[in-house]
Amino acid sequence: MIKRLNEILEEFKEKVKNYKTKEQLENLKREYGSKDSVLNEVLRNLKNASPEERKEIGIRGNEVKEEIYGTIGELIDKIKYKDLKQQLENEKEDISITGIDFKNGTKHPLNLVIEEISDIFRELGYDMVAGTEIESDEYCFQKLNMPIGHPARDMQDTFYINEKQVLRTHCTNMTARMLTQLSQTKIKEKNIAAVSYGNVYRRDDDDATHSHQFMQIDGFAVGKKISFANLKWTLEYMCKRLFSNDTEIRMRPSFFPFTEPSCEVDITCVNCNGSGCRICKSTGWIEILGSGMIDPEVIKLNGLDPNEIGGLAFGIGVERVAMLKYGIKNIRDFYENDIRFLEQFKFFGE
Ligand SMILES: [Zn+2]
Repeated sequence: MIKRLNEILEEFKEKVKNYKTKEQLENLKREYGSKDSVLNEVLRNLKNASPEERKEIGIRGNEVKEEIYGTIGELIDKIKYKDLKQQLENEKEDISITGIDFKNGTKHPLNLVIEEISDIFRELGYDMVAGTEIESDEYCFQKLNMPIGHPARDMQDTFYINEKQVLRTHCTNMTARMLTQLSQTKIKEKNIAAVSYGNVYRRDDDDATHSHQFMQIDGFAVGKKISFANLKWTLEYMCKRLFSNDTEIRMRPSFFPFTEPSCEVDITCVNCNGSGCRICKSTGWIEILGSGMIDPEVIKLNGLDPNEIGGLAFGIGVERVAMLKYGIKNIRDFYENDIRFLEQFKFFGE
């Protein structure tokens, strides 16, 4: 029986040479471990041997078994090691390869201006309010002192959706909405200051400085003792923050249906600092926004008492500010989303 065990081992050694894969080797291991394997067949006959032989066969049997299993185990480990080495080789990083350039997006110049102006007014205690671009004729015009048929409506060529709804021509619609809302509250102290921004639409001719769609920031403050001096201080402060500390403003009388008095605000030219150049048409000044004291009639139209409260208001063209701030010549650049144009604003607003 010892001889048979040795034969089994030799047979195994021959056989195992042809087993190459992990799966094959594991099958082989199962084959030798199964009930009717050649090994177990020998051990089953152990009962026919004498006690001395039994001991000897037992020992040799275990040796053979261990050698077979040991060999298979080693071969499997070798394959595993080889596979792992191959895997590591495949996954090895080549640190000499140039890295992938991750492109960060950039903020749109109009958003940069909106963020900057919003921040200034938020610091001054103004709320930010959102509005709708489709507005009723009532809030876009009537409550702002432009009744149906009023000639001032011609100042703003309007896109009508139907008889009662328009694409808003200004963000001032939010002033009317906020004032009306304020009139409906029971709060005694009627103070409010808010800024809203967004798209507005006018049927202006398209040229390099006009577009049928543009962005506006509109703000107002109402309360008991709001004066023209407050308006002047607010706008001067904003312009200095937005452009530079040396920026000066001047206010020219103007007309808007919803403010009285009304004024247009100029700043000292951002290009020549007031000495005169092509951009400011040699005047040294550049028009930047419209403003005024809220017309008492508007206060009344929105359900409040003009004898008790008054307010200031202003409207800023976002594109205009962005064009001056970043030296952009054509308003269409803002809406074409040319990546080469937008990428130039990478370092602003960080
Ligand atoms: Zn100039």
